[in-house]
Amino acid sequence: MTQRSALRHTHRTLRQVMTVARARMASGELPCGTAPLRMWGGYGSGKVCVVCGKAIERAEVEIEVEETVGGTPKLVGWFHGVCQSIWQRECARAARFSIVAEA
Ligand SMILES: [Zn+2]
Repeated sequence: MTQRSALRHTHRTLRQVMTVARARMASGELPCGTAPLRMWGGYGSGKVCVVCGKAIERAEVEIEVEETVGGTPKLVGWFHGVCQSIWQRECARAARFSIVAEA
């Protein structure tokens, strides 16, 4: 694979991940930062990422996320490092939009 096509491939994958993340946030499958979050990072252990639905390989960064609802920790799921940052960014964007909508 040439460097140029590798970049294009990555770009397309990111767009797909963003689309899935937005759909899962809209359906309520993924929470959106209203509850305090706790996160742990490490190397992949083969868990399935809640954003992209792919296994997190050993060489990849795996992030476990918990939200605290009414003082009780609740597992959100496991994320690839990159999928977690996309999720957080989409959450921030959604929050900005809802603030604008309420104003
Ligand atoms: Zn992922």
